[in-house]
Amino acid sequence: MTDPATLLADIHARIARAAQIAGRKPEEVTLVAVSKTHPADRISPLIAAGQRVFGENRVQEAAEKWPALRAAHAGIELHLVGQLQSNKAEDAVALFDCIHSLDRPSLVSALGKAMDKAGRQVPCFVQVNIGAEEQKGGCVIADLPALLAEARAAQIPLAGLMCVPPLGIEPAPFFALLDKLAADNGLSGRSMGMSDDFETAIMLGATHVRVGSALFGARG
Ligand SMILES: *Cc1c(COP(=O)(O)O)cnc(C)c1O
Repeated sequence: MTDPATLLADIHARIARAAQIAGRKPEEVTLVAVSKTHPADRISPLIAAGQRVFGENRVQEAAEKWPALRAAHAGIELHLVGQLQSNKAEDAVALFDCIHSLDRPSLVSALGKAMDKAGRQVPCFVQVNIGAEEQKGGCVIADLPALLAEARAAQIPLAGLMCVPPLGIEPAPFFALLDKLAADNGLSGRSMGMSDDFETAIMLGATHVRVGSALFGARG
């Protein structure tokens, strides 16, 4: 297997190249290394190679893995990229530095309350169900303005919009649509693009790409 430092350098080179083609600066794109399912001993080498921003999709798993890793390494930023249950909002606010999956009014109120109680403001991306898929998390496009208004009223800091396009079809139109929705709503962040399509996402305005398997290998 290729060593983590080499994989990381390769991803950074690909990010820089996509940004350059689009006339953007590589620094405008944050690489979120999605470490879900991978144990601490797989994560440490990436930290040693300089990576600081990581993503997890489950509160419980993050709570088990990250306190020790944070204690051992300065400057870690932990992002939640998976669906969040309202009853885990307090745990999520305590653990994460950014949440990418704010997608419904009940979660706005749970997170708003949790942030007030903790005295800690955690920036949130509002997840959009960009392909209008039945089973998928995310706010439907028609409900987005109302949800953003509720989040603003609850004083939740809004980082931008996030999406996971439908599997198996060309993602570019969905990235372009998310970019437009963010612009229309005055939001600067766009969390979009994963291992298979992050360069396309960057060309279409991604500010945060969430890359798992291209950095860690396939999940078991
Ligand atoms: C797992 C996951 C990723 C990373 O996916 P890869 O294809 O392994 O890069 C990104 N975003 C979300 C929401 C995920 O759940």
